Amino acid sequence: MSAPLQQILARIETAARAAGRDGPVSLLAVSKTQPASAVLALHRLGQHAFGENYVQEAQAKQRALAEAGLADGALEWHLIGPLQSNKAREAALHFDWLQSLDREKLVAPLSRHRAGRPTPLNVLIQVNIDGEASKSGCAPDAVPGLARQVVAAKYLRLRGLMAIPEPAADPARRRTAFRRMRALFDGLRAEHDGIDTLSMGMSDDFELAIAEGATMVRVGTALFGRRGA
Ligand SMILES: *Cc1c(COP(=O)(O)O)cnc(C)c1O
Repeated sequence: MSAPLQQILARIETAARAAGRDGPVSLLAVSKTQPASAVLALHRLGQHAFGENYVQEAQAKQRALAEAGLADGALEWHLIGPLQSNKAREAALHFDWLQSLDREKLVAPLSRHRAGRPTPLNVLIQVNIDGEASKSGCAPDAVPGLARQVVAAKYLRLRGLMAIPEPAADPARRRTAFRRMRALFDGLRAEHDGIDTLSMGMSDDFELAIAEGATMVRVGTALFGRRGA
């Protein structure tokens, strides 16, 4: 288990150095479909942040880890899958970050349900950067308006942007998608304080994403092996 994590961390560092990056590039371990034991094993090797696509699956894992003796707050949980309105409460209560905010309708319920927690919910706006019909994420030109709503919400903290470029695209097209995300991110940073996270890049393309400015990469398969069908 340790070999993949060390390898990925080394590749991230090499890519960041090659790109001449000054700030850190962090690793989100995408643990969807993996058992709680796999999360625990990676945590023991020093991995802190984990990403899940489904609220219920994450909650089951969090319960199993608590039963295994892991202290509350030992891990940082990111929701990276599409969020349905009827799951806003669970998302606000059981995650530290929401990376998939893509519509204004979710802002008020998320903030309201977060009110009882000691820290605000960290939020990334998901952008449908390739304009895919079937993808979640807001249109690029909807980012400024949505960002202002999040910034105005008392119990939310806007940290940046997330995207999943079209998987079928060739590397050159993917690179331009990453580049457009970087431009949106720079625009957001000029507009608001505290914007520090550009989440893009997965097992197949995280080095390319880092070259174009990613500050966080989300890696599943390359860390845990292929997911079962
Ligand atoms: C599954 C998933 C990942 C990880 O994908 P891999 O190709 O397994 O690294 C990253 N981000 C999101 C939003 C995902 O759903």
